[in-house]
Amino acid sequence: MKELEFVDRYRIEKGEGFRLKEYDPEDTHDLKKDDAKDLLAQGVKRLSELQEKLYASDRWSLLAVFQAMDAAGKDSAIEHTMTGVNPQGCQVHSFKAPTSEELDHDFLWRIAKALPERGRIGIFNRSHYEEVLVVRVHPEFLKTQRLPPKLVGKDIWQQRFEDITGFERHLARNGTAVCKFFLHVSKEEQKKRFLERIDDPAKNWKFSMTDVAERARWDEYMAAYEDAIRHTSAPHAPWYVLPADHKWFTRLCVVGALIATLEKLDLAFPVLEEAAKAQLGKARQTLSAE
Ligand code: ATP
Ligand code: MG
Repeated sequence: MKELEFVDRYRIEKGEGFRLKEYDPEDTHDLKKDDAKDLLAQGVKRLSELQEKLYASDRWSLLAVFQAMDAAGKDSAIEHTMTGVNPQGCQVHSFKAPTSEELDHDFLWRIAKALPERGRIGIFNRSHYEEVLVVRVHPEFLKTQRLPPKLVGKDIWQQRFEDITGFERHLARNGTAVCKFFLHVSKEEQKKRFLERIDDPAKNWKFSMTDVAERARWDEYMAAYEDAIRHTSAPHAPWYVLPADHKWFTRLCVVGALIATLEKLDLAFPVLEEAAKAQLGKARQTLSAE
């Protein structure tokens, strides 16, 4: 969609030399909140048309990965962008700290089980990237994975990047379009949102003390995100580093990116073969003669 093509500027297909500090969390591409409303409605409509074709043609699937610091707006971005989409064609999966059953398998096991079927849009609220983000910032989580000690060396993050890259390439080669979102919120804005969660009784449930503990490791997280984006960006599995200080703008970008990804697939409704068309003609005759 032409009006949303500006989202290209946040897409990273080649990670080499990527620097997070070159991306401004406050950016709104000179748009105003009021202009965004109409644009979002148009985008949601377009997305819903594309999703119908995706479903009808039943060849491709779309995997959209959402990663972010707490209160960056993952949940609301998912909610607002998928509103127009037929729920039957869409599945959302949230990844929490792994269960003991999950820890008994390799780290991609639970991910593979949750992948979207052909024709569907799969949304990952957190993902396999936690394995090179939270686990990297908290090496004690790595211990709970009970990997054979000789397999855990200083190359482990590099190896995980390679495995993730290989996995996503495999998905792309088998008909899953992958796109990944990092909702890039500033530390200042996160503080503001945490304070709102504390001060507004209706938002208290969203607040957790562990979020504050993670905030204290902000710089380590940013370094981990930067390294992950450097090593796992690819043309078939790009990262979108989206400004997240203005939620209305983030949503617009997510919709724009999903549209761009689906438009590249050249989706079309299936065309019936001659024999099937003839059968339709017969069915019409039978119904009309009733
Ligand atoms: P909300 O934004 O509503 O708080 P959330 O996604 O933060 O939702 P929580 O239940 O608060 O959900 O947090 C899930 C936690 O699980 C996060 O802290 C995340 O880092 C952690 N987690 C996810 N995957 C892994 C993993 N592979 N290893 C360890 N921790 C993980
Ligand atoms: Mg949380």
